Order: sequence, then structure tokens, then C-alpha cells
Amino acid sequence: MEGKTHYMFAPIFTVGATYLLATSSVISTQSIPIPLAVAIAAGCSLTTSLVADADLHAYKPKYVILDSKPKKKKNGEYIVKVRVTKKDSKGNMTTSVETRKYKPPKSPQIRAWALFFKAIGITKHRDWRSHSPLLWGFIWFNIIYWIGKTPLAEISPTLNALLTVIFCGLGMGYISHIVGDMFTKGGVPLGPEIKLTKKKSIGGESVGFIKLLPKPLRGFFTAGNQLYNKLFLIAGVEVIGYLIIPEQTKAFNSIIFGMVKGLVLMLAQISGELF
Ligand SMILES: [Zn+2]
Repeated sequence: MEGKTHYMFAPIFTVGATYLLATSSVISTQSIPIPLAVAIAAGCSLTTSLVADADLHAYKPKYVILDSKPKKKKNGEYIVKVRVTKKDSKGNMTTSVETRKYKPPKSPQIRAWALFFKAIGITKHRDWRSHSPLLWGFIWFNIIYWIGKTPLAEISPTLNALLTVIFCGLGMGYISHIVGDMFTKGGVPLGPEIKLTKKKSIGGESVGFIKLLPKPLRGFFTAGNQLYNKLFLIAGVEVIGYLIIPEQTKAFNSIIFGMVKGLVLMLAQISGELF
């Protein structure tokens, strides 16, 4: 998925997830009406919709992430010397020093998450520590569930409900990103890669039902495919629509289908008259 798609999918996903959690009483929104709770959560989800990809910066030196070195290149890039170990043509390992250009992340949120990912040892994009649906589903579910069970629930139920809704939004924003990545060709890792034999391993293998599709179709499901990005968002809206307001969604769809059908018939008639 493109960043823009992740950003737009986060509130769609969060509306559905928060609605389900609130109506099934997994979380208690108490005095906050459900439509308001859902709207607050959807707004909060925007702030975490892209943070998982802060792992793209985690391998960079700390001063690049923090943008804290005074000496800087003209177009805003740092010149960093890195030690690279490669195999030469004879198969020997040789180490050389190479110069790379690194851009610091722009948003303070991405900086903070990049530092956090660096601290837990992430050095590559879509690492299981930033993108595992199992790990982050577990973490966020526990935060959202237990935050509603603190003593604050007795002292100020409304404040407690508000906190629950805010964290629900933050968590769902993060999870929506991983869900979006699952629907791409690359998929996401389920957990750390555990090597069973030389060829077989579990966890680190890319997961995502896209992998179940026949190979010729996979080219369509790349992160950069514009049409796929749009269809994915439409599918998300449809699923959430049928979940929350089935009657209205059905009515809306029949209007759209009716319009498309009318348009096709009209075009057919015009082309019939022309040729
Ligand atoms: Zn990602």
C-alpha cells in the first residue's frame, strides 16, 4: 500500500473495529455515544497509521534520525560513512568503507518510533518487531482492554471511557497499517524467523493471503499499483458499511449500480446510432 492509502484506510478500519469492540462490550465507552466514540477513535488512528514504517529509518545513525548534527548537505541529506562487508569475485569477504546519503525523517512521531525501533534492534523494513500482526495485535489489544480496567473507571467513568477510545484509535491505526501491508505482494512476517532446516523456516515467512493467489495475478497487488490502492479502499468501505449500516449500504450500492448500468446502456445506444 502507498502511504496515502494507509492513511485513508486507518479511519475506515478503525470505525469498523471500534464499533465492533464497543457494541460487543469488549471496551466500555459508557457515557460517550457510540457514533462519537467511533469518530474520536477514527481521528486518533490517523496519527499511528504510518508509524510502523518508521522502521525504514531505524538502521540510520541516531543523529540522522534526530536531525541533530549541524553539518548538513545542501538538499537536506547527511553524508554517512558505513562499513560494508561483501563477497568479492573469488568468494572472499572484504570490508570497505562506503559513503551513503541519509535523509532524516520529517515528522516528530516517525522520529520517536524510529528511535524506539532502533533501540529494539530493528535494522530492516517490515521486520517482525514492527510489522507482526500477532505481536502488535496482542500488544494493542492488551493496552485497549486493560486501560478500561484501571481505578480511573470508578473515579471518572467518562474520562476513562475517553482514554479507552483514544487508545483504541491509536491501536487500530497501527493495526490497520499491518492489515494493509498483508494485502500486498510482499506480505508481513508473522514472527521471528525460526530456522527448522536449511530450507524450511517458520514465522519469518511472508504471511498474507495474497500469497495464495496465482503468480500471474500477484503483479497487480504491488504496493504502488494505483488501481489496486483505490479498489482496496473501496472494498474496506464496503465491508465496514455492511457491518454497521447494512440497509443504507445496500441502498447506496443499488443506486451506484443503477447509475453505472444506465451509463453503459446510454453509451451502447449512442455507439449503436453512430456505427
Ligand atoms: Zn509497512
